[in-house]
Amino acid sequence: MSQFRSDIIKLTLPTPFAVGDVHAYLLKGDVLTLVDTGTKTEKSRQALELGLKMEGYQLSDIEQVLITHHHPDHAGGVDFLSPDLPFIGHANNQRWLTLSEEFLQEHDEFFYSLSKTLGVPSEFIGFIKYLRHSLKYSSARVLSSCLQDGEAVPGHPGWRVIETLGHAQSHISLYRESDGRMIGGDHLLAKISPNPLLEPPLVKGEERPKSLLQYNQSIKELYDLPISLVYPGHGENITDVQELISRNLNRQHERAMNVKEMIKTKPSTAFEICTKLFPKVFMKEPGLTLSETIGQLDYLLDREEIRLEETDTGIIYTLNNRGQE
Ligand SMILES: [Zn+2]
Repeated sequence: MSQFRSDIIKLTLPTPFAVGDVHAYLLKGDVLTLVDTGTKTEKSRQALELGLKMEGYQLSDIEQVLITHHHPDHAGGVDFLSPDLPFIGHANNQRWLTLSEEFLQEHDEFFYSLSKTLGVPSEFIGFIKYLRHSLKYSSARVLSSCLQDGEAVPGHPGWRVIETLGHAQSHISLYRESDGRMIGGDHLLAKISPNPLLEPPLVKGEERPKSLLQYNQSIKELYDLPISLVYPGHGENITDVQELISRNLNRQHERAMNVKEMIKTKPSTAFEICTKLFPKVFMKEPGLTLSETIGQLDYLLDREEIRLEETDTGIIYTLNNRGQE
């Protein structure tokens, strides 16, 4: 744990996930706000209490909880705090917190039907039940109020909300114009390009969100914003934001061109491409690797580099010859 500025305190908490530690932030203002909470594990709770203690606080001093997005490593630890506290974030968090039977059914149906169109063989379809695995580290709490793009952060004059969708459909960042500081959740990370995670559509039956295209759009919108420092959800603080944005966009483009080459060699289903891109990791992290693969395919489709053909065994992606130079 380290302190970079007296009114923003970083609290580094362990997670049971491959990503490693997550950072929560204590934001001092008219109220004391905990931005992100860590995971709902005993280890994380102890680290949170210790981090607060070193700053002269305890859990009961926190007056408000704000989450950058619903993922369990950012939102699960809210259960350590009094249920009476204001609990705020983007409205799209709520379905992932409440986890109603209706939503869980919608979630599974979405992934079953998507898997079919992606050409996932029936012997792999069981992965869908593992997608729910991490949700046990989540919290069922209900948001007391919701934040939208452009709104002020309650209790923190000068801070405003920027909607930064892509990694999650509930993702927001907090920005302070006076000194260009941003609390960025998982939107911009120094060493990792955030996964454009697949999520069921917000309204059942509608088209699914195209998370990678959304993500690219969201980071492009930050490019011209004077950001001096990003306090991220994982890893080191970021100072050269424009450089990071360009690097993320370039790397993603290269990955997509690699996928285009695969399709050029052999028209394929998304599943086939995924297992070629991630031969070892696929079985361990099917949700993440399929999200990444579909992101690249959405990108190539959007650029009209490829096209799709629906067949009985799923969608086959082929090169769009019109898009060839
Ligand atoms: Zn996340």
